[in-house]
Amino acid sequence: MQRRRAEERFLFTPSGGGDVSVCLVYPNTYAVGMANLGFQSVFEILSTHPRVHCERAFLPDADQRGSEVVSFESGRRLRDFEIVAFSISFETDYLHVVDILAGAGIPALRAERGGGPLLLCGGPATFLNPEPIADFFDLFLIGEGEDMIPEFLARYVDARDAGGGRDGVLDAVADVGGAYRPDRYAITYAGDGTIESVAYSGPGSGVVTRRLIADLDRFTTASKVLAPDAVFGDMYLVEASRGCEWGCRFCAAGYMYRPIRHRSPETLRAAVEEGLAERSTIGLVGAEMASVPGVAELCEFVADRGGRASPSSLKADVLTHRLARALGRSANQSVTVAPEAGSERMRRVINKNLTEPEILRAADWLVGAGVRAMKLYFMIGLPTETHADVEGIVELTQRIGERFQREGRVQQIRLSVNPFGPKPWTPFQWEPMEDLRSLKTKIGGLKRAIGRLRGVDIDVESPREAYYATVLSRGDRRVSRFLLAVHAAEGDWWSVLRAWEREPPADGFDPRIFSHRPYASDEILPWDFLDHSLHKRFLWVERERAREERQTMPCDVTTCRVCGAC
Ligand code: SF4
Repeated sequence: MQRRRAEERFLFTPSGGGDVSVCLVYPNTYAVGMANLGFQSVFEILSTHPRVHCERAFLPDADQRGSEVVSFESGRRLRDFEIVAFSISFETDYLHVVDILAGAGIPALRAERGGGPLLLCGGPATFLNPEPIADFFDLFLIGEGEDMIPEFLARYVDARDAGGGRDGVLDAVADVGGAYRPDRYAITYAGDGTIESVAYSGPGSGVVTRRLIADLDRFTTASKVLAPDAVFGDMYLVEASRGCEWGCRFCAAGYMYRPIRHRSPETLRAAVEEGLAERSTIGLVGAEMASVPGVAELCEFVADRGGRASPSSLKADVLTHRLARALGRSANQSVTVAPEAGSERMRRVINKNLTEPEILRAADWLVGAGVRAMKLYFMIGLPTETHADVEGIVELTQRIGERFQREGRVQQIRLSVNPFGPKPWTPFQWEPMEDLRSLKTKIGGLKRAIGRLRGVDIDVESPREAYYATVLSRGDRRVSRFLLAVHAAEGDWWSVLRAWEREPPADGFDPRIFSHRPYASDEILPWDFLDHSLHKRFLWVERERAREERQTMPCDVTTCRVCGAC
């Protein structure tokens, strides 16, 4: 820790230490946490507040597991902080919440704590569905934090200074827009494992409206701490947009961050210029980078200064020749494109709005510009998928590979294939995940066929892991007991999943009800109490359009009001 602290460089000035001690926790290792722009932004907001003294904590590295979890800055015990706040980006880190609390000597279940630090939680995983970890936390902050966290701190400090005590403070901060206090909700379950009723006791209706900032230019979301040990530690990261206008029906990020917001070319360029003073590689972060206004000019600007712009992912049909050339000029060895599905039919189902000629044209431009490798993202097991759709992945990869081979250089294509898992707040939230056996058969065939192509590697997420992630993402409050059982089994989630399939506990928790079961259209969904400004009816209609293989036009935020987000 000492070496890492010495190597870090802060690009902001902390307030110097207030009387409210906060430990901000990322439930994964230091290297992963410090690569996360959201975590870095929250760290800056807390650290620059005049009343807050903020430190960080992470999941210990593998060689230090089992040791007490303490703060990164001073080695202080977590239970000695006034507030312990988790920032969670991915549901697969939920288990680490239990691991960290156990390692810090703090009971994970709220009902068993009865005191100690206030446990807060936020982050994208919880905007979608906080229920799987609702029994662990005193309060969630649902949505984007730039305005919400300062409001929370103002209420917190006022109530604390007034001597409100723990309960009084909790009552005061629960009024902040976006705050979710899970102890005010009581859930009952029907015999088939679905939710029968949700009773709310507290002020207002119990609906929690997630927070969003309208204008990204009000804040610069970029690297705040340069940490060489972080993943992407050699890059300066700049957020270019939030949300996505394309409406892919499986994509949680595209729906939860609606409407699409872009940073203006001017503020983006200013952030990139600052970044180039620190690092030669600029990571452009967002759901899709080719449609960011001015992105080609921005990448040229980076290349002119001898730097390298590295966009997170590019949509092939909006990639321009100019952008491809700019990426080639700035020594981009590899570019990521996400066709997501191999056949035109499947891409219509998922609303990818992307044709094969458009993908091949993008490949031609990128290869011609000197890009030497491509990473292609695909999904497998999507709703209505057939074997012909899976074969389409092989055919499309082969055609892209031919473009690379024509250049006669050593080229590389890497396929990253993920089994589909339904996500809350998407049109596919009601869909089941495909049976594991059938997925394994499809994946086996795909790997054999791809193995016959020259210069192509394939990396497939295991269907078991996708099953586990789906339970964590689509589950309800009973998942917290499951996480405690997995922690007790030293992380062996597969054994616990199988044991609970064979013999569900008394509360009816069979993990397959969250993963392999279609949710009914009139069913109470665990996340129904959240308001993402998305009409549930709109999501259902989009699901129906998927079944009819009908595409929906991308967002036009100036005129459209159809989904409720604008
Ligand atoms: S209202 Fe229309 S433009 Fe706005 S996010 Fe929804 S679909 Fe997109």
